[in-house]
Amino acid sequence: MSSEEKLFHIAIDGPVAAGKGTVSRLVADRLGFLYVDTGAMYRVASLLALQNKVDFHDEEKIVNLIRNADIQMRNPIDFEKDGRLTTVIVDDKDVSWKIRSEEVGNGASKVAQIMSVRLVLVEKQQHIAANQNVVMEGRDITYRVLPNANLKIYLTGKDFVRANRRHIQLQSRGVDISFNQVYLDLISRDKLDSERQNDPLKIVDDAWIVDTTDLSIRQVVDLIVAKATVMRDVRL
Ligand code: C5P
Repeated sequence: MSSEEKLFHIAIDGPVAAGKGTVSRLVADRLGFLYVDTGAMYRVASLLALQNKVDFHDEEKIVNLIRNADIQMRNPIDFEKDGRLTTVIVDDKDVSWKIRSEEVGNGASKVAQIMSVRLVLVEKQQHIAANQNVVMEGRDITYRVLPNANLKIYLTGKDFVRANRRHIQLQSRGVDISFNQVYLDLISRDKLDSERQNDPLKIVDDAWIVDTTDLSIRQVVDLIVAKATVMRDVRL
């Protein structure tokens, strides 16, 4: 069997604050896989647009910005272990925390509407997964980026619970924002993501739907690791 046939890809899609990042990071660590946060790439596109005062709908300029930027993503190394899930470097600058603001997140949902932006980023994501085991999370991973993934998961949870988690997360970072605002942002981003014309967030037929509303992170991670381990054992 060639090394390519032995690759194991876990694709995770789901709405805002379903726990995709935290869960994927822990599953990847347990299995020794690479964790790939594709939302971070759309966030970088948004950050670049904001920094360069480019309108979120200006397709040509945004595509140029991401094509010309050197975007590196890696597991946090020693001194970077400050609670982040992934380290994102753009043109030698560490933007790992800068891309986590609500402003950048809201912009990310807007630039993600543009098909040419998606094409550039999907290509980068497929390139990363081409020769290694990954846990990749986003909105279109199960059907566009990794349509042949070994395990496809749709991670979700009740709106209110997801907004509460995001609110606590932002507060712990010292961001002063009301629960109402976080809830409204979440609803509007989910709507943009699932109603957009280009590669919307959707549940594919062969996805395993995991509702995290009443589960701890540990429980979700245990479930996924157990399932992936059985699937790999059967296949090997
Ligand atoms: O997951 P995260 O909230 O960081 O993603 C930011 C935004 O990027 C999402 O709201 C979504 O609009 C977009 N995105 C996407 N496709 C992906 C990952 C993220 O459209 N694969």
